[in-house]
Amino acid sequence: MDVIKRAILFGGKALVSVMDTTEVARVAKSIHGFSAPVTRAMARFLTIGAFICAGFKNKGDRLTAIIQSDREIGKMVVCGDSGGIVRCYCDNPTALADDKDASVAEVVGNSGQLNIIKDLGLKEPYNGLTGLVSGNISHDFAYYFAVSEQINSAIALGCNIDDQGEVAVSGGIIVQPMPGCEEEILVILEDIVGNFTDVAGLLARHTPQEIIDYYFGHFEMQYLPDIFPKYQCVCSRQKAMEMLCALGEKEALDVVREQGKIEIKCDFCNSTYTFGEEDVKEIFK
Ligand SMILES: [Zn+2]
Repeated sequence: MDVIKRAILFGGKALVSVMDTTEVARVAKSIHGFSAPVTRAMARFLTIGAFICAGFKNKGDRLTAIIQSDREIGKMVVCGDSGGIVRCYCDNPTALADDKDASVAEVVGNSGQLNIIKDLGLKEPYNGLTGLVSGNISHDFAYYFAVSEQINSAIALGCNIDDQGEVAVSGGIIVQPMPGCEEEILVILEDIVGNFTDVAGLLARHTPQEIIDYYFGHFEMQYLPDIFPKYQCVCSRQKAMEMLCALGEKEALDVVREQGKIEIKCDFCNSTYTFGEEDVKEIFK
């Protein structure tokens, strides 16, 4: 079962999160039909998205994370809600299908941009924009956290695909300082995370709790409640109707008369909502 295991270290000076997002990645792959390289990239992106959403304090808090890649994959989007709920899509789900061993950095490239929008119920959503630095997503988010949020983070993300082309394991390890964290502590923790060159392989052999106990258990460690990440869409026929309303009555009727129906497809889960002429008239009544 997918889980985000979190613990505070050094009496509250740092937070370690170890994430198993294998099922999230499997669901994403099966919905979108991702190629192996795209699966590895999107799994990492979903993992860090779930991590950010796990840190949300209020129920209505929402994440929109966009990687604008200049490679074949195009735009990559992860949205999420508090409690580690995530969903995703990308422009080209089958990018690099012929090159199944392509690295994540090759899929994403290093000349695009990362845009993080957090709607925390305040007047204005938080909006951070940084350039990609390596394209492997771990480094790109570490750079984002350092520059945009002034949080020096140690991030290791990974996803392994098995011989059948299915997700074997997906997850990651993230350590972030908390207020009052001394530089020396962060150096120690970054050093540990720096050794996780194959975090997916580590997660295939050990549970998140075993990893935290083994590597961080001796740092005045104290567990926080578990978070259970999930791939979940929030679309509905009602929301599709609201989109139709935004289109305007005349436009909607023009389309429905020309094509016999209007179809609104959800990018995140591929659900299609179909409206006929009578539906459209009813909506605008
Ligand atoms: Zn949907």
